[in-house]
Amino acid sequence: MSLAQDLQMDELLREVILDHYRRPRRRGALEGATHAAEGMNPVCGDEVTVHLALDQGMVCEIAFAGNGCSISQASASMMSETVVGRDAAGVAGVTEAVRRLLQTGALDPAHDLGDVESLQGVAQFPVRVKCALLCWNVLERALQQPISDTKESLP
Ligand code: ZN
Repeated sequence: MSLAQDLQMDELLREVILDHYRRPRRRGALEGATHAAEGMNPVCGDEVTVHLALDQGMVCEIAFAGNGCSISQASASMMSETVVGRDAAGVAGVTEAVRRLLQTGALDPAHDLGDVESLQGVAQFPVRVKCALLCWNVLERALQQPISDTKESLP
């Protein structure tokens, strides 16, 4: 894992990313989940599954699972901490701000993205942007996908 060479980014930000990768927050199963989705980034082989417990659009609980590179898994851990407790409009606003951050490197002062802001340097590496965005794309699908509708529940 030569993240230092891969991403010539600030030492401190790199440490934040590696910390989430090594000690992921909100990783695992989620009892009482109401919504779920999974996705992959074939370019890198990253996989992320997101489970949500929604109450009238509010993300009461979130858990993720997955495999892949440090950016994809750290991003999912950071995302989970950032969106928990937000309502639908809050999640949509944060998701939009993160997309802009990862694609342009621009931080939006209107949104507190928490540790997700440490991924700012990823914008310089288009291949890695896909890794970091994977969990956010899965989150967006999960919000629209009640668990009774998912493939897993089919016989
Ligand atoms: Zn990746």
